Amino acid sequence: MIELKHIWQTYKSPDGKTTLDAVKDVSITINDGEIFGVLGRSGAGKSTLVRCINLLNRPTKGNVIVDGQDLTKLSASELRRVRHKIGMIFQHFNLLSSRTVYDNVALPLELAGVSRDKIREKVTPLLELVGLTEHAKKYPAQLSGGQKQRVGIARALANDPTVLLSDEATSALDPETTTSTLALLRKINKELGVTIVMITHQMEVVKQICERIVVMDHGEVIEEGSVLDVFRNP
Ligand code: ADP
Ligand code: ADP
Repeated sequence: MIELKHIWQTYKSPDGKTTLDAVKDVSITINDGEIFGVLGRSGAGKSTLVRCINLLNRPTKGNVIVDGQDLTKLSASELRRVRHKIGMIFQHFNLLSSRTVYDNVALPLELAGVSRDKIREKVTPLLELVGLTEHAKKYPAQLSGGQKQRVGIARALANDPTVLLSDEATSALDPETTTSTLALLRKINKELGVTIVMITHQMEVVKQICERIVVMDHGEVIEEGSVLDVFRNP
């Protein structure tokens, strides 16, 4: 379970003269195994909030509790271990252009010091899972957007995370590719039991895949509930 408790994030302007409360006293609970959506327009504070889950953002105030452990109280080395449990995918994929598909997926394992044989045992089924086995030797520039995102998804799963954070992962994709990418995420949720947190400004995305959502605006949660409840016509 992930609990964000009374999260505040205050940013200073570059000149230090003004401040912005990007997230204002937000508390949410995300259950194991669910697909949870954070919906809102650009600038609402979605990324800032969700990046607290792996402390990519350290909140100005509040607590981040993952599986009963308060991440804001961990040492740097303990935090590194916990971060392995949390994978992340991005709008612009963040792949390394000089590495093949295979080597992009292998990267987190290389960084963790995993042996070449173990890396191959891990990467081969991941490429299978995301349907890229035949493209393993290609470079990112040779792939479509949907294929690039599949590389990003496989890479995010390399360390066997229990949670996957998706930051506008379908926003650069056409509607058809979005639907197939969401189908892949649903399969990962069902088959691997990975909890998924989807940040998106696209209502269609949360309608297609999320069970529960919050809607954010100006740093606050303005709606919360099941997708059916939030979009029920009055
Ligand atoms: P969203 O993900 O909903 O688009 P963000 O969390 O990215 O929103 O941003 C919320 C607000 O915080 C925006 O006004 C944005 O400009 C500001 N912001 C985000 N990151 C930073 C930062 N590192 N420094 C200063 N301001 C930031
Ligand atoms: P070896 O043990 O023969 O040296 P490795 O498994 O260490 O082979 O892989 C060496 C390189 O070969 C990797 O870094 C990767 O670039 C490439 N490679 C390995 N397996 C595959 C695969 N299934 N598909 C594409 N490239 C692969």
